[in-house]
Amino acid sequence: MKGSNKMNISVNELNKHVGEEIVFQGFIDAIRDKKWVMFVILRDATGKVQMTIEKSEEANAPLLEIMSNTKVESTIKVTGKVVENEAVKLGGIEIIPTNIEITSNAEDLPFDFNNLDGVNIDTRMDYKWIDMRNPRNTLVRQVESCITEGMREFLYKNNFTEIHSPKLIGAASESGSDVFEVKYFDRKAYLAQSPQFYKQMALAGGLDKVFEVGPVFRAENSNTNRHATEFTGFDLEFAYINSYEDVMSLEEDLLIAGLTKVKERYGDKIKEVFGTEVVIPTKPFPRIKLKDLYQELHDRYNFDIPKEDVGDMNAEAEKLTFKLAQEKYNSEFMFVVDYAATKRPFYHMRDENGKLQGYDLIWRGTEITSGAQREHRYVELCKNAKEKGLGKDVEFYLQFFKYGCPPHGGFGIGLDRLVMLLLGLSGIKETQFLFRGPNRLNP
Ligand code: ATP
Repeated sequence: MKGSNKMNISVNELNKHVGEEIVFQGFIDAIRDKKWVMFVILRDATGKVQMTIEKSEEANAPLLEIMSNTKVESTIKVTGKVVENEAVKLGGIEIIPTNIEITSNAEDLPFDFNNLDGVNIDTRMDYKWIDMRNPRNTLVRQVESCITEGMREFLYKNNFTEIHSPKLIGAASESGSDVFEVKYFDRKAYLAQSPQFYKQMALAGGLDKVFEVGPVFRAENSNTNRHATEFTGFDLEFAYINSYEDVMSLEEDLLIAGLTKVKERYGDKIKEVFGTEVVIPTKPFPRIKLKDLYQELHDRYNFDIPKEDVGDMNAEAEKLTFKLAQEKYNSEFMFVVDYAATKRPFYHMRDENGKLQGYDLIWRGTEITSGAQREHRYVELCKNAKEKGLGKDVEFYLQFFKYGCPPHGGFGIGLDRLVMLLLGLSGIKETQFLFRGPNRLNP
């Protein structure tokens, strides 16, 4: 049976078409075969709707025949009339079909995606396209898209240019220690650990505000809840700054813009589904020097940073920093500044006393960003690189600063982590569209 060629109407638009004949396409969510009537629940990305087939109507016999031979999760194209019916729980409307076409047949599913409790996370990842059918997981994707949209909009409005830098690179970029090596014809190439060098090159090229949303690769053999070997970086860099304070200030505005968009569009749904409140922070976020933070963590929580992490943070320190931010500043965010230069990349600027001009941003107990004013002066940059023992690998990068480059700074946000924290999810495996870790390259 061939249906109509009319445009499809999605569930969230159906109420605008009451009394009309429409075409709907989606998944078959449930079939409730009663004595006198068959109720079929249909689903698309925007919601669910009931299709009602009366058994007493002779003309419905072929439709009932099709539905009796079809399993749930098959996809369907329905031509029918949208009718108001107060008794219908799903939005008070139903579709009365005149034509049904099964567009693909589903086999029995490997698990019930409506009840994921107890389903192993690896099984869920193996069948990600089924796991995603749970509305909770649809919401994760929608929220990620929404916060990206909000942040992008903010940057476009502020005259940023979106760039796309290569992910295949000829030299191990930042440290060389956690880079994936790939065979590139008869030589080696590497997968970019961040767009850092190329964002800066764009500024040397005369663009003064750039950003990129793209894949970042880290050959970190760690199995924490917040590390993936491939994730999406939301990176930006801008010129003519006075200090890294300007960078922090821009990041505050950017996050406020992204979170506001999410709260407006999905705030209630997030609360209902994840029990998490989307809190719009106010400027300025609290800032604390690393040394003072250590003291506070010691005094308040009896926590001392282990020797090997002095000058930096660790996971426990990040957790307690969130506690401190809430208790002392009534904030979910905290900027931590004055990291040891030895613990930071060579391209972060130091002042005349060697003090690092950079920061990390901690949100809800996890680092979401590293940012800094960058060293744009060729001679100083070469010196810093040399001190870190970086020679040939960064030679190409150093050239970017040889022919004039404005003072600048920027940061990189891990988008996956941002969404994980925003929704209060337990890990990055739950958050990423397709997780990549030391033991996972499929699907
Ligand atoms: P961490 O100390 O947590 O490993 P990092 O210092 O290596 O992070 P950066 O190189 O500054 O992180 O990267 C910028 C942001 O990217 C981080 O603040 C974090 O939000 C995110 N990020 C870093 N590594 C990963 C990873 N392996 N998986 C997911 N997100 C990450």
